[in-house]
Formats: sequence, C-alpha cells, structure tokens
Amino acid sequence: MYNNPSSRGKEILEALRGKLVVSCQAYPNDPMEDTETLCRVAQSAALGGASGFRLNSPEHVRAVRQNTSLPIIAIQKTYEGGQLRITADFGSARKLADAGADIIALDCTDRVHAYGEPWREISRRIHEELGLLVMADIATLEDGMRAAEAGVDFVAPTLHGYAEETKGTFGFHPELVTALAQETGKPVIAEGNVSTPALARRAIEAGAWCVVVGSAITRPGTITATFVEALKHVPHERSLRYVIGIDIGGTNIKTAVVRQDGELLFQHDLPTIVTEGRHGIARSLKSAVEEALNNVKKADLDVVGIGVASAGAIDSKSGIVFAATDNLPGWAGFDIRSYIQSIRDLPVYVENDAQAAALAELHFGHGQKVSNFVAITIGTGIGAGIVIDGKLIRGMYGFAGTVGHQTIRFDGRPCNCGRSGCLEAYVSTEALVHEYQQLHPAGQASPSNSGLAREISKLSLAGDPIARDAYKRLAIYLSEGLANISNMFDPELIILGGGLIEDHTYFIEEVQKLTENKLHFGEQRPPKIVPAQARRYAGVQGAAASVFTYI
Ligand SMILES: [Zn+2]
Repeated sequence: MYNNPSSRGKEILEALRGKLVVSCQAYPNDPMEDTETLCRVAQSAALGGASGFRLNSPEHVRAVRQNTSLPIIAIQKTYEGGQLRITADFGSARKLADAGADIIALDCTDRVHAYGEPWREISRRIHEELGLLVMADIATLEDGMRAAEAGVDFVAPTLHGYAEETKGTFGFHPELVTALAQETGKPVIAEGNVSTPALARRAIEAGAWCVVVGSAITRPGTITATFVEALKHVPHERSLRYVIGIDIGGTNIKTAVVRQDGELLFQHDLPTIVTEGRHGIARSLKSAVEEALNNVKKADLDVVGIGVASAGAIDSKSGIVFAATDNLPGWAGFDIRSYIQSIRDLPVYVENDAQAAALAELHFGHGQKVSNFVAITIGTGIGAGIVIDGKLIRGMYGFAGTVGHQTIRFDGRPCNCGRSGCLEAYVSTEALVHEYQQLHPAGQASPSNSGLAREISKLSLAGDPIARDAYKRLAIYLSEGLANISNMFDPELIILGGGLIEDHTYFIEEVQKLTENKLHFGEQRPPKIVPAQARRYAGVQGAAASVFTYI
C-alpha cells in the first residue's frame, strides 16, 4: 500500500498547511467557463495570496500551470446519465498529471456509480504510475474512513450534500471536519460551502489541514445572487438585530436575548453544576443555550449569533478557556465555541466575564461617551477590563486586566494566586466580612460569607457606623490599586461594579478622594470613579456586544 509520499509530495503537504486553496471553476455554459478567463481569475487569486488551486480539466490545469508553481489539485468532472462524477477513470487522471497537476481529486464515495472505474483502483494507479497525491472527495465520515484505509493522502467532505445519503444537508459542517481529522488520521481539506472568511477560519480551527473556497471567490454570478437574495428579505423599517448572551459563573449561568441597543429580553438564571467537573458545567451551559433558543423561537426572533462570557482566562480568538480557577473545576481547555456550535450552528464569540462587563460599558454604558476607562468588578475576586482608545485590551493569553493580583502590600496577606499582598486579598466579599468582624467581633456569624457580606452591605446603606467603617477600610486598600491603575493607563473613568459596590455612593466618593490623594498631579487629572451602568447582566450584555461588533 502506498503511504510514503515523494519529497515533492511532502513539500506540497507543508505548503498547504493552514492555507487557502482557490477553486477556479465555472458552471457549464456560464460565460466564465473559458480557459483564458479562469486563468486570469487564478492569477488574480494568486495576487491575493492563494496558496494553491483546484481546477477542472487538463486544459485549465495546463493553462494555469504556465504561470504558477503553486500546488494544483486537479479534477475531471463528467456528467453522464444525469450523474456527476469526479475523475471517473485513470485515463482522465493521467491527462491531468500530464498537464501539470500535483494532486488528483476523485469521487471516493461508495455510492453506486453509473459509469467509470472503481475509485480504489484509480487511486492505487495514481500513486504507483503517476507518483501524485490523491485527494478523496467524500460525503460522510464512513466514506472518509474507507478512503483513508485505502491509502489516499487527503480526505475532503466536498460531496457532503450531493451524495444521496447526505442530500438536503447543505452548509459547511465544522463537526464533520473535526470528526474526519480525528478518525481518519489524514489531513482534511475543508471543501464545500465555505462561503465566508469566518467559515474558512472556523474550518482550520475545526482541524482542517487547508481550505478550498470556490464559488465565494470565483463565481460572480453566484456571489451576485447572494446579494440579491439578501436584499429581498429586508423589512421596510430599519429593524434591530438580536443576539443570545450567556454569562457562565461559578454559581449560575445567566442568559438573555440582547437587542442591538442593549435591551435585555427573557433574562434567565440556571444553577451551574460544578460538582462533576467540566461535564456538569457543559450540561448546565447546554440547558441555558436550549432555554434561550426556545425563547427566541417562541418570540419568532431571528438571532444573529451567541455571545458567551465566562469566568477564567479566555482565548477569545479560538473560544477556548485558557485557564480557570476552582470556581469552575475542569473548565480549563474547554472549547466553548465548538460546543455551542454543536448545539446550534451560529457565530459564537467568547470573552472573559470581567472583560465582557467592560464591553457592556463600552457599547451600552459609560463608554458611549468615554473611550479610555477601566471597568472593575468586585465580588469573590476582582476582575477588570481595560479599554484604551475605544478598544478592549485582551493581551496575549487573555489575562490583560488581572488587576486583582497587583501587590498593594509587600509581604501582606496571602492570596489564592500564591503571592502575598494582592489587591484581591484586601478587597473582596471575604475581605469585607473580615474587616467587619475585626471592627465588630461580636457580630453575628451567618452561614456564608456572601450572605454576611450582603447583610453588611445593607447595614452600610442604612447608615450603620460599623458597616461603613468596614467599607472605609476597603476604600483605603482599593485606592492603592486604583492609583496604580491610573498611573499605568491614565483612564478618564474607573467604573466599579459588583453587587457589594454599585449603590454605595459614599464608598465611591471615599475611594475617589483617597485615589486622587495618591496620584501625582492628582487634582489636575483625577480619574472619575463611577458606579457601573451595566449591572447584574453586564457579562451577558458584553458578550452580546462582542457579537454585534464582529458580525
Ligand atoms: Zn494574587
């Protein structure tokens, strides 16, 4: 069996890795179906950065080969008895090879072919007699497994949606790409219905070796039709778009449908199952998504995407959790985007929850007027999102804005990050309870810190002097951190959020005064410290804002 590509074969394989192949073909009888025209289309695609071509017929391969050394995937389409077949016999393959092909693609489905030679035989002879690579155009995972077993070099779900068993399932299916990559062990070429740059990217993220895009680049008639179709469905009045927003926390998962102007509909909380590691969290997430999709269906709304905020460091490019704390056990490494897309195929964008809260402010809150600010959420820990010049700073691994782990007391209290004296060790739910108990040792203990913290918050709002003193101590520590942040980022606003903070005007005033006093040129450039405008559903709104920004 052939499984040892030549050195040219290996070179081609490497040249295509993570790259775009452009299929330059036209429908029969289309005005573009002309060698000279398609040749120019290919040249233009090469200028745009295409790394290879897929071409039909030896004539087109020969013409394009004259101007390029890029890899060419070649096919010979035939229509007989109403059935399309891709490279139906070895004779066709030989002609493509003679014309300059590097890879021959052929129909490797096991559907009954009305004509031509068995594909296994054609594949074997391409290897043995032509020394070229074979790309298996298949429809299903089972086809892919059989082709891999037969020794092809690439598998591609090109025929998904065409072959009998998959008829009617048009569209690009990233999960099929992933399954093929995992199960066949062969490089997968994502071909078929990759109609946007975002889908091309998703194909690579799903595990494809490279991507073939055809109609969306090289068929002006098809492209025009998509525009014409889109214009047919525009209602006469300007309508607002909707997105599902989800905020995954250690206690519960909040969901809502978010209108483009930030309005929240169908707010809903579900408990997060954290006792079974990532499976429990994933199950909770699935229920939340399904609940939201149900609401959308009932209200007959058309949602354009799903935005997710999650605790932990998030790689927002891939939608994968980079790191998570014990609040979400086992969550690190979880692919939130793919998981949600396996439930519903919609664009999904994922953000860290505190960074999402900053996005909520940017799009629907204070950020509508101010473009340099830091939004800080105080709860069991401290999260933050830094917005500079209207743009959220995420950093390389998504950790930008981890302001809770800045040292404010050298050799101070131990922090759960392993260091000492972090801001978070002095300003949090637990810290508030600690300060209160120090001032009022006889204070009634309550079952949980968060319950007691809420109690202290209420007492403080009612004017209780001990509770207010506890808040004042927190203000001293917090101002140390905010002065540092101001020195580093020079924000116009510092926005404080979190249930323990938002309504405590006197506390925020105290923090304002203390921070100003710690700043060089404090009175000339005091960052204004304000309560958050986006509240309990800030994460949900911010995650939705992320979708509205990208699509
Ligand atoms: Zn720390």
